[in-house]
Amino acid sequence: MQTIDTPTQTSLSHKLYEKAKTLTPSGVHSPVWAFQSVGGHPFYIERGDGAILTSVDGDQYIDFVNGWGAIIHGHNHPKIRAAVHEASSKGNTFGAVSPYQIPLCELVVEAVPSIEKVRMCNSGTEATMSAIRLARGFTGRNKIIKFSGCYHGHLDALLVKAGSGPLTFGNPDSAGIPPAFANETLLLEYNDIDAIKGALQAYGSEIAAIILEPYIGNCGHILAKPGYLQALRQLCTEHGVLLIFDEVMTGFRQALGGVQEKEGITPDITCLSKIIGGGLPVGAFGGRAEIMEMLSPAGPVYQAGTNSGNPVTMASGTAALQLIKEEPPYALLEQMCQQLRSALLEAANKKGLALQVPQSVGMLSCFFSETPVHNYNEAIQTETSLFNKLFHFALERGVYLPPSAFEAWFLTTAHHGAALDKACEVLSEGIKHL
Ligand SMILES: *Cc1c(COP(=O)(O)O)cnc(C)c1O
Repeated sequence: MQTIDTPTQTSLSHKLYEKAKTLTPSGVHSPVWAFQSVGGHPFYIERGDGAILTSVDGDQYIDFVNGWGAIIHGHNHPKIRAAVHEASSKGNTFGAVSPYQIPLCELVVEAVPSIEKVRMCNSGTEATMSAIRLARGFTGRNKIIKFSGCYHGHLDALLVKAGSGPLTFGNPDSAGIPPAFANETLLLEYNDIDAIKGALQAYGSEIAAIILEPYIGNCGHILAKPGYLQALRQLCTEHGVLLIFDEVMTGFRQALGGVQEKEGITPDITCLSKIIGGGLPVGAFGGRAEIMEMLSPAGPVYQAGTNSGNPVTMASGTAALQLIKEEPPYALLEQMCQQLRSALLEAANKKGLALQVPQSVGMLSCFFSETPVHNYNEAIQTETSLFNKLFHFALERGVYLPPSAFEAWFLTTAHHGAALDKACEVLSEGIKHL
């Protein structure tokens, strides 16, 4: 296994990063890109093709970030690229209706069980922000429930994670958010149905919505216990609370219809992003027609976007979803993820290290822990320093893992074969060296 150059004093990546830091806070446009959690410096990516990223210094990496899950067919897929070029040749934005919006909306409505009507926006954050406003407008209630470890983008009301008990109101995680903005956010632990029952008994008539990642992908990968999501659905219905599934990450990755299809649950509102843009910035939210008709201009809930439904993005997303529909990738992704999971567990077993590898379809993560992880509290008690060592061992040998122990790993259909085999070899070797 050859070792490759990671950014050094003389590399072009290093020079670009030093320049970027003079222009942009920490040199990055989103925090995790700075490698703060694993240490070291990011490498600058010149291009991506299939499973492989090539850095500006010419080093190649097998990619397990894949645009944080946005990429499911590998980078630079020829059909998506062609769709983008075709749309872009007619102009990039009109701020108006365009025929490119229809097929993507049709594909989403057809695929996602809960979505009768959908509105496009520009990011996952916009989707969850609009969904929360819509739920408040529809129910006439103010409070919302979220879960520790679920990430819904960076809107004020949902940047809340730490709470000291099941019924404490959250404190903001970020400076610059007035406590009052998060006061209406009730924070609970995921996978604990009694906590929900208690909260709904105490505040049921004031709660507009419960929002969650049905399977968590932003605190490592955490799966729902059997029956948990079904119980949530039933309790929401009993209390007139809207159930919002944030399927920004899981939508079109876990199944064509997302986790809701797999688990047979119909949420009231669903948020999407990532895969449905085919790699371009996008967001969307949808649900029952009766709820969606509350949106402006017909309804009283305001929501808008200069670039919403952008023709180039719509063409890109349509091409990606058509590829998925023509040849569903889920069985292959499941098989590949299991191959990777087995390799990791076998290596850890040989080494005598306690490792958990929660996995579902095209997503997994590694928790160095004796016991399975069911929620945020358990996740933060796992041994992240071992992950950080594994990250650097892998990076030096051309395997790029997400630069934090608490991010999910994503596979694409392009990883099938040589790329995945090599990654399994490198990661097994890495665990041996921990
Ligand atoms: C990525 C993500 C978001 C935020 O999307 P942005 O496009 O980064 O604003 C929201 N929810 C979930 C579950 C995500 O994974």
